[in-house]
Amino acid sequence: MPEIQIGGYVPFTTIDYPGKLAAVLFLRGCPLRCAYCSNRHLLDVGSGEYDPAKVLDLLRNRVGKLEAIVFSGGEALMQGDAVLDYMRAVKALGFSVGLHTNGFYPEMLRRAAEIVDWVGLDFKTTRDKYKELVGNDVAYERMLESLDSWLGTGRGIEVRITCDPRFITKSALSEIADILAARGVQNIAIQKYIPHFDDERDKTTPDAREQFFNDTNLRDKINAMFENVIWRE
Ligand code: SF4
Repeated sequence: MPEIQIGGYVPFTTIDYPGKLAAVLFLRGCPLRCAYCSNRHLLDVGSGEYDPAKVLDLLRNRVGKLEAIVFSGGEALMQGDAVLDYMRAVKALGFSVGLHTNGFYPEMLRRAAEIVDWVGLDFKTTRDKYKELVGNDVAYERMLESLDSWLGTGRGIEVRITCDPRFITKSALSEIADILAARGVQNIAIQKYIPHFDDERDKTTPDAREQFFNDTNLRDKINAMFENVIWRE
């Protein structure tokens, strides 16, 4: 089996796969460079800190205690066939397989659909701001292609929007909600941007970060558009 590069491991979480006890594997490598990234140590592929075979042994020992394994990152799909093979091995242990993705690899996501049960997809901002936020020209189109192809599978998805006021406005959030609702998305999570110590570009204020969450009209409008809206404050 080709080796995947694992840069982090969370052995137990209740919030990373809806309704299931899960472990999370953080894979190294990401094609994007988001201004607010809090996992910068994972952005270069480099060599993994965890031995994949030993991690698989650990997971084998958690059969019956955990229900799902989530592949996060970085961008797990950047590791190509190696990650698909590893997901198959995880699935063979009886776990559900989750994926947190930025949607940059629609073709890989199509192939992963035979294994992955649930996806958390980042919809980072509107088209006009995407490049400035992620540092890549084609990321928005690829993310939309990934979204549409995953919706076509009928499998579970949560679309996540992180409200960093440097890159998103309330009207932009409303516009994104319209785009998602028009596609039939039912589960979304609206996440507060929380500055972290190595976000050297951060100039945001608490009021600016909270504006998305304390506007009752905006909340009511968005809540009425979807089956589930999680406001992660
Ligand atoms: S997609 Fe995620 S891991 Fe990659 S740079 Fe953006 S925030 Fe960081």
